[in-house]
Amino acid sequence: MLEIKNVYKTYSSKNGVTHRALENVSLKFADKGLVFILGKSGSGKSTLLNLIGGLDDYDRGDICFNNQSFHNFKEEDFNHYRNTQIGFVFQDFNLINTLSVYDNVALSLDLQNKPNNSSIDDILKQMNVYSLKNRKPNELSGGQKQRVAIARALIKNPKIILADEPTGSLDSENSIAIINIIKELSKDRLVIVVTHNKELAYDYGDRIIEIRDGFVLKDLMRKDEFNVSNETSTLA
Ligand code: ADP
Ligand code: MG
Repeated sequence: MLEIKNVYKTYSSKNGVTHRALENVSLKFADKGLVFILGKSGSGKSTLLNLIGGLDDYDRGDICFNNQSFHNFKEEDFNHYRNTQIGFVFQDFNLINTLSVYDNVALSLDLQNKPNNSSIDDILKQMNVYSLKNRKPNELSGGQKQRVAIARALIKNPKIILADEPTGSLDSENSIAIINIIKELSKDRLVIVVTHNKELAYDYGDRIIEIRDGFVLKDLMRKDEFNVSNETSTLA
């Protein structure tokens, strides 16, 4: 469903200095499952997620979704892709503080031009935040905010959920709760999670991709355990 082919991404700063954030990245993703992306700060993890989400462009290579190349996407195709196929979850939740929990989730439906409907209540119940529906985000704990953010992503019924350090602002108990939710969601969709937490990745992941300096350093599939793997290097 999602394929990244030999993608390069360079950022250039005002003073003309260029920085290569991704270098010859090729990855094929299955339609479901939980994929973790590991790597040090600055290794290109967020860049990769943003490219997959259609939030930024790349210099070379290609990304294909359902065998359609991003090269052939017009602006309206990207908007449709972002609004209907992709759910984003961020470290800092990115909820709108002036809106209630319910309205934060409803806004996600508005962006798809879908009417508000009872599915919002269902998803808030599923995420165990229904009783908080009239509260504002600043009246919630970190774990509650992240569950609302997941509800907001989920209301679109996206094919892919992209989560950039979703547990980065949470304590270990809340981190495990959020990862358990994410694990459940990955049973019928693709979920790609950037994290620093190797232990969570190895405990919960179906696949672990490690990035270093913009390269794919490791790409491990869980068979019985990660030591029975198809470790690859893009240098090969
Ligand atoms: P990670 O998420 O792994 O910490 P990023 O993908 O955010 O890494 O960044 C990869 C590299 O690209 C870093 O060196 C970072 O400084 C650089 N970078 C990221 N975004 C920008 C930007 N908008 N402008 C210039 N450089 C950037
Ligand atoms: Mg990042």
